[in-house]
Amino acid sequence: MNNKTLLKIANDFGSPVYVYDADKITSQYERLTKAFQNVKQLRLNYAVKALSNISVLKLFNFLGSGLDTVSIQEVQLGLRAGFKPENIIYTPNGVSLEEIENVAKLGVQINIDNLSILEQFGTKHPNIPVCIRINPHVMAGGNTNISVGHIDSKFGISIHQIPLLLRIVENTQMNINGIHMHTGSDILDIDVFLYASEILFETAKSFNHLEFIDFGSGFKVPYKSGDIETNVEELGKKLSKRFNEFCKDYGKELTLAFEPGKFLVSEAGVFLAKVNVVKQTTSTVFAQIDSGFNHLIRPMLYGSQHEITNISNPKGRERFYSVVGYICETDTFANNRRINEIKEGDILCFKNAGAYCFTMASNYNSRYRPAEVLLYKGKPHLIRKRETFDDIIHNQLEIAI
Ligand SMILES: *Cc1c(COP(=O)(O)O)cnc(C)c1O
Repeated sequence: MNNKTLLKIANDFGSPVYVYDADKITSQYERLTKAFQNVKQLRLNYAVKALSNISVLKLFNFLGSGLDTVSIQEVQLGLRAGFKPENIIYTPNGVSLEEIENVAKLGVQINIDNLSILEQFGTKHPNIPVCIRINPHVMAGGNTNISVGHIDSKFGISIHQIPLLLRIVENTQMNINGIHMHTGSDILDIDVFLYASEILFETAKSFNHLEFIDFGSGFKVPYKSGDIETNVEELGKKLSKRFNEFCKDYGKELTLAFEPGKFLVSEAGVFLAKVNVVKQTTSTVFAQIDSGFNHLIRPMLYGSQHEITNISNPKGRERFYSVVGYICETDTFANNRRINEIKEGDILCFKNAGAYCFTMASNYNSRYRPAEVLLYKGKPHLIRKRETFDDIIHNQLEIAI
């Protein structure tokens, strides 16, 4: 997506706006598929929560992807986008038995991550096949916000509870058809990931009717220069080999599943916002844009660094800016960042805005959430209208006061 295209999109659709590149999503999907070409049955289930626009889901359906969902609403979106229920896996955490039963009724693969619900579900519905989410207690990344496999994590059934898990399965006669792990959002070290996989293989041996093993996600993409990217080709080679060996020992060809979100869509997206004010204080030059953490919360929530370029003046001399928003709250996108000289009215482009950006947007300060545009077959398509005042007031009820 070149600057000219992006400037035209900001001009035609207004700002702020999220823009996604269908070609980049496609190439990431194909890259991952190719990395695991030696596995006979591979399933990539795109993690809807990263970017849940229905047009993006339709693209994934077209590519042959499945879906990983965490709520019944994401399941409904997937079905609306045309996915077959059997190509959707539902991996909730801490939801009610009732919601799980309602998703099961839709024919979607259930993945259960605690023993309490497992026992209740197995007792009531012993014939519905269930996948179980295991916590292998392996730290990925090192930032506890995004490492979900460690000992105090709320996710998954601890490997130390396998004896109790097996007893529940035996008592209820339920059918466990898959096992799953998702250790966090960053595979920094392939060997750590392979180590966790060995724990999953070991656990898998206790179940006789498996159809798939789901290795979750955690594929890392670079955000700023110097960041490491998961070497999916190397991971593909090593894990495929081990997986094929395991299937031989197990005596059955299983499906290898992954559920990447960030890897598939992060780099495909940019966020465009307009500079309202350039404000010089005693110590800092602020560039204030027509947005805030209500539209892109990752820098404030996780300390994420999104690269920012001034696409209105890409050749201008570089100066230092703090890029902040317009909401009444500290909403810093970048501190003391070197950016081509900024004038009021310029359009700034935030990279890596495909994953966990729009989906985390809110109406804080009663602002509208941004529009979304998909560049598909060389043309920009509006895939979400900018909100209007009607959206703000829609569910509010005025009582007589
Ligand atoms: C969020 C999530 C994913 C996707 O993680 P990424 O880091 O975006 O690839 C996969 N599986 C589960 C269960 C998740 O909750």
